Amino acid sequence: MIVVLTGAPGAGKGTQADLLASQGGYRKVSTGDALRKHVRTKSPIGLQAEAVMARGELVSDEILFQILREELGPDSQEKILLDGYPRNVAQAQTLDSLKEMHPVVVAIHLDVDSVELVTRLSGRRVCSSCGATYHVSMTPSKISGICDKCGGALQQRTDDREESVRTRLSVYESMTKPVLEYYRGKGLYHRVDGKGSTQDVFRKLVGSLDGLSLS
Ligand SMILES: [Zn+2]
Repeated sequence: MIVVLTGAPGAGKGTQADLLASQGGYRKVSTGDALRKHVRTKSPIGLQAEAVMARGELVSDEILFQILREELGPDSQEKILLDGYPRNVAQAQTLDSLKEMHPVVVAIHLDVDSVELVTRLSGRRVCSSCGATYHVSMTPSKISGICDKCGGALQQRTDDREESVRTRLSVYESMTKPVLEYYRGKGLYHRVDGKGSTQDVFRKLVGSLDGLSLS
């Protein structure tokens, strides 16, 4: 069975997915990670994808689905947490073609309001020499603008500037909304409040999954 996990950039989806994988008995399947692995190992499908990306195009739904099917594997008893897929309704429909073996039992929306997301993302600072990350209010460095670990200068990524963040969030929302509506229509949509500490949100997430009596 598959639990689809969705959440905007900054909603903490990656962290929660890792926690569910290490403590919740789920195997995380990320199409993004799998795609990078194929490209790195120069598999036939990786070479195909690399050529597409080199032209500045998006990897097709068909290639992604091939990768996904391989990652899901043949074990129908496994609890799988799907991260980064489906990104559109066509992908959601294609995923349904595997329902005999891997039915989607719930699509969890890790929901954080946009004001909070903008604060989280635009407050991020990265060390220009060692790559350590900080947040101006949540996890600040001891001296403003200076890395605790190596003394390097902290910078804000262009991507994390407020204007870019707003654009990223609206792109995400317009892409994801139809997918969430698709699962809502099937009675599989479930919202989890993503506000609060990592542990708080994890408890809420586990509570929801337990409450859904999946099997
Ligand atoms: Zn540093």
